[in-house]
Amino acid sequence: MDPHPIEAADLRELQRLDAAHHLHPFNDNAALAQRGTRVLTRGEGCYVWDADGNKLLDAFAGLWCVNIGYGRPELGEAASRQMTQLAYYNSFFQCTTEPTIRLAAKLAELAPGDINHAFFMNSGSEANDTILRLVRHFWAVQDQPRKNIFIGRHNGYHGTTMAGASLGGMKGMHGQGGLPIPDIHHIDPPFWFADGGDLPEDEYGLVAARRLEEKILELGPERVAAFIGEPIMGAIGVYIPPMTYWPEIERICRKYDVLLVADEVICGFGRTGEWFGSQYFGFQPDIMPVAKGITSGYIPLGAAMFNDRVAGVLKDAGGELAHGATYSGHPVCAAVALENLRILQEERIVEHVRDDVAPYLAGRWAELGEHRLVGQARIAGLMGALELVPDKGRRAFFQERGKVGALCRDIALRNGLILRATYDSMLLSPPLVISRGQVDELFDKAWKALDETALELGK
Ligand SMILES: *Cc1c(COP(=O)(O)O)cnc(C)c1O
Repeated sequence: MDPHPIEAADLRELQRLDAAHHLHPFNDNAALAQRGTRVLTRGEGCYVWDADGNKLLDAFAGLWCVNIGYGRPELGEAASRQMTQLAYYNSFFQCTTEPTIRLAAKLAELAPGDINHAFFMNSGSEANDTILRLVRHFWAVQDQPRKNIFIGRHNGYHGTTMAGASLGGMKGMHGQGGLPIPDIHHIDPPFWFADGGDLPEDEYGLVAARRLEEKILELGPERVAAFIGEPIMGAIGVYIPPMTYWPEIERICRKYDVLLVADEVICGFGRTGEWFGSQYFGFQPDIMPVAKGITSGYIPLGAAMFNDRVAGVLKDAGGELAHGATYSGHPVCAAVALENLRILQEERIVEHVRDDVAPYLAGRWAELGEHRLVGQARIAGLMGALELVPDKGRRAFFQERGKVGALCRDIALRNGLILRATYDSMLLSPPLVISRGQVDELFDKAWKALDETALELGK
């Protein structure tokens, strides 16, 4: 199939309309209006095409989500079948639909331990809103209404609703809209590169985890409802904690009866080479929000998943569970998710990551770590970052953070490679179906982008 470039005059008109009528998320909208939006037109496998006809290797899988790759017709066919048969019905009023039920059961089969219950929403943010409300309700109906505090991490990311952005620890987000909402606290994240000092990584992991214990004791265990964290912190720059971190967090949560919420919105559905990030790090959460990879981004869907204990209390609480959305358990989204999970399972895509392409990528990523601009190359499964630094060999950032990262991102894009930059970390999260050959292409393009960036910096 041809890449369908849009005529130059039509593209300019689209960009004019976009600037006039479309407010973009996470953008400087004034600057974007000046520059003109990039319009994407087609995707296949690990590649997308833009309106100018450029073919780009999408090493970020859209936004951490297109796990099975672009252009799988089976998902469109599943949506079409369901839309034709029954486009919509709700799960309120003692009703639901077949794909919704089958998806809940499928998720229970895949999720670790006794996490057997799904509450469906439309996004990761809404899943986290659901978790904040239902966990507070869980403690309240057990006569502990004061056990309502959530502890998250500074620079964590849990979405953009009032609850999601509050649970997250992004200062820039808290600064807009009066956040965080009450009874949400944060501890420092595990980021050895900046914070580890002279400690070996494993020892540092324990030190970082014990910040949770200190915070629980400071607030009082009778006040702390839950701890929430991404197994690997994505948006802030792929902070991969030492292997000691999560088991210690789990021990602390058990000790004080604090519920453990693993935000699996990025790590879930194969990103690390395991089905869920908690399995990669060897701990058992009580609750997990999922979204993104659950449909490989083909259609919006999120779910809050609960273990038997939490779901049991919520069921036995008596009366109505006063929460939900019009599209909770939407049958078309559920049908697409089921088809996506079928492909992940039957084509053994998670095993492909774990046994083949992730170990191969890890080797090539380490080679990129040798580049004179790279201070650390971190990677777990198919999730990685290159930390660009002014002074190789010293764990310190550029003085003005973010300029070099943006420069490198733009250069990579001109060379046909999509990488994301957070500050000066170049972030990697390709579709899980990426091949060894495509990893080599990624390596060549990334190395070239690093070289050209270094040259522009006069290095
Ligand atoms: C993307 C993301 C969310 C929010 O999901 P949305 O679907 O964008 O609302 C929550 N948690 C994590 C870890 C994420 O990466």
